[in-house]
Amino acid sequence: MKRFIIVILLAIVTSTTLWQARAASKANPIRLLLLDGQSGGPYHDWQLTTAVMKKELQDAGIFSVTVATSPKFGEDFSNFKPEFSKYQAIVLNYDAPDWPADLREQLENYVKNGGGLVIVHASDNSFPDWVAYNQMIGIGGWRNRTEKAGPMWYFKDGKLVSDNVPGPAGEHGNRLPFQVETRAPEHPIMKGLPHVWMHGADELYGTLRGPGQNMTVLATAHSDPANHGTGHDEPMLMVLSYGKGRIFHTTMGHDVAALSCAGFITTFQRGAEWVATGRVTQKVPADFPTAGSESLRVDIAKMDPDFVKGPPPRPDPFETLAYPALFAMKKRADELGIGGVAVVAYFQGDKIQAWSSKMLVIGRMRDEPSDTNKGANLIGIAYAKAVEMADTLKDSGSQVRPAMTGEFGWQGGVIVRGKTGYLIAAFSGGKSEDDVKVSRAGVEQLATGL
Ligand code: ZN
Repeated sequence: MKRFIIVILLAIVTSTTLWQARAASKANPIRLLLLDGQSGGPYHDWQLTTAVMKKELQDAGIFSVTVATSPKFGEDFSNFKPEFSKYQAIVLNYDAPDWPADLREQLENYVKNGGGLVIVHASDNSFPDWVAYNQMIGIGGWRNRTEKAGPMWYFKDGKLVSDNVPGPAGEHGNRLPFQVETRAPEHPIMKGLPHVWMHGADELYGTLRGPGQNMTVLATAHSDPANHGTGHDEPMLMVLSYGKGRIFHTTMGHDVAALSCAGFITTFQRGAEWVATGRVTQKVPADFPTAGSESLRVDIAKMDPDFVKGPPPRPDPFETLAYPALFAMKKRADELGIGGVAVVAYFQGDKIQAWSSKMLVIGRMRDEPSDTNKGANLIGIAYAKAVEMADTLKDSGSQVRPAMTGEFGWQGGVIVRGKTGYLIAAFSGGKSEDDVKVSRAGVEQLATGL
């Protein structure tokens, strides 16, 4: 009996001590190494995003964060000795083509022996030819990755599927807010988060490829074809294992605006704790985004010198579609062997108050005058067709009423009611029926997003 009590007491003491040893606190923080030093281009401002990520990790109150800056690819690495084993997890804000073999081996052994790894956004562009790295991250993109890197992985009918169709790896549309959907609600990183939440404007990575082994997708996002997307539910958050090591991979976090999303921050902080300790003690913050509205932290967003006030401006959908529409018209004009001037325009709602328009000269902008012909300003004619349509809401030359001054009553312009307003395309330079065909190509392109 006495021995039995001692055993119980010992068990209590041991488990309490272990728990205290494992639980991170300000006095006993989780040691993280945040590694940076290079990116694929100036669009990834790694000096700035490292400062942001460091603050976000420190804000959690359970981490101590050391930053190590790697030499750039091709520089001298002989003095770069990051001592991975001093840390419980490595956080990569890093995108480089390759590393010296001894450094690669050190990171492989570190993770294999139980070290944690966090992959943020373009860190999954890094090291396309390093086999073990691609096993650790599961999927990656760009830097000439193709089907040789592995299949694409995405969710279909509620399940993770792989797709061997050949092609490049990595694409994204314009930076817009998008919904993130939980796929593993019981995982410690996801526990208590809403099933669906709105992420702030960010690049939504798609067509990522890789071995995808030992990988659990925690959350996906629908890649909308209207924003150059794949139409697939693409992996956004993943956990993986490599040997004894745990990996957390978030494809989100392009810039400070994206990093300021409370949903990004929460999953990042939780992911870092989980890879380091195997558990998550952090509660869901009150400002976590909901399905319908994003939630940006202004103290983080303000770390971007370009940030003035409020959330970053959204790209104007007409601005995004106008040139694709004009180039669709150029393609059609080329097929028909005609040149001239293309105009696209858009106004919101049912009645014109103001519009946005863009123009492209395709081959020629005017017909030269001759003795028998006073010539033609094709820009003027294209716009005159557009303005007639803005008044009548019918294709130009519809003859619903006689042409007014400033109009010609000529065919060649097309107008349709889109989802948000009226879409107008007009072409001048060919025969009427060909002008109509060219205009139709423009309106079809505008209709994909307006
Ligand atoms: Zn990016």
